Amino acid sequence: MTRLPFNPALEGLAVYQPGRPIEEVARELGLPADDIIKLASNENPLGPSPAALAAMEKTLKTLHLYPDGNAYYLKRALAARLALDPRQVILGNGSNEIIEFIGHALLEPGAEVVVSQYCFLVYPIITQLFKGKLVTVPARNFGHDLEAMRRAITAQTRVIFVASPNNPTGTVVPSKEIEEFIDAVPPEILVAIDEAYVEFLEQPADLLPRLRAGRQANLLLMRTFSKIYGLAGLRLGYGMGHADLIAALEKVRQPFNTNALVQAGAIAALGDTEHIQRTRQNNAAGLRFYEEGFRRLKLEWVPSSANFILVRVGDGSRICAALQEQGVIVRPMGAYALPEWIRISIGTPAENQRCLAVLQRVLTA
Ligand SMILES: *Cc1c(COP(=O)(O)O)cnc(C)c1O
Repeated sequence: MTRLPFNPALEGLAVYQPGRPIEEVARELGLPADDIIKLASNENPLGPSPAALAAMEKTLKTLHLYPDGNAYYLKRALAARLALDPRQVILGNGSNEIIEFIGHALLEPGAEVVVSQYCFLVYPIITQLFKGKLVTVPARNFGHDLEAMRRAITAQTRVIFVASPNNPTGTVVPSKEIEEFIDAVPPEILVAIDEAYVEFLEQPADLLPRLRAGRQANLLLMRTFSKIYGLAGLRLGYGMGHADLIAALEKVRQPFNTNALVQAGAIAALGDTEHIQRTRQNNAAGLRFYEEGFRRLKLEWVPSSANFILVRVGDGSRICAALQEQGVIVRPMGAYALPEWIRISIGTPAENQRCLAVLQRVLTA
């Protein structure tokens, strides 16, 4: 049979492996879904903001209509909150889609993309999809070595990705370092800062003043409603940058990439400071709980500033499988070249207790 002439970029391109859905594991184990907990995708264990749910319920009756392709009200709400012009904000079907826009807008065969070792796997996937060349800079203490990343720049470099906090390591780049780094990167190279977990930080680097001044044309900040806002199931992320950069990214966006439900829900979620506050508190307590537990179990971990924690357990995929058999889904790290480690998302106190107890049992079995 003649094979279709697939795009050669697809050869050897790995399919992204997400955290396993509860329903899928329930089917496999023959267990009720209620008996299974998922601590594998850094979702908000407190659920969506109640205010967002109420706003979305009102939108249900008009779901026969296309959404506002330009998301006027949501963009205006975001821009007001960020003190940016709405033309400096672009929405994506998750911030994953914003990363894809970067590929469309800036990558061509041979274009170099600089990332840190242990980076979010979507950056290499998009790079390969657009036939770019991935330049991976060794990590320093599991985090970004910005000095080395700067030295990795060549005439072919088009994009540099920095995630802070980083997934899967939870490390943060100090404000001063990131500011100096941005200043040192030549203006024709895009610096894409992935701030998916920034809302969990006590004192995040504030890079928005650079955008407000309108002078930084090569900086893109990316955030999401999937993590602290608890709306991962609805897919919404956003990018912030110079109006010219955003205008370029808008050209590669499909017309209705964000749905009507999430446009309504996100505006409400943004204003639900109580939900955000509760999420932050639950997360900080959960991180402390795991750190104490790991210390007691004499396990090595990477100090985290996000809503997950990386811990060294030996054979990560075996331990993940054993946890899963007990109804606890966490994430193996083999795909990140960390086969001895697993990543646990912070859950509710009850979920965290169950996860740690099962982990202890599995490790001593
Ligand atoms: C979770 C995550 C995102 C957000 O993905 P969405 O597509 O918005 O759900 C982006 N970057 C990193 C590093 C992440 O961990």
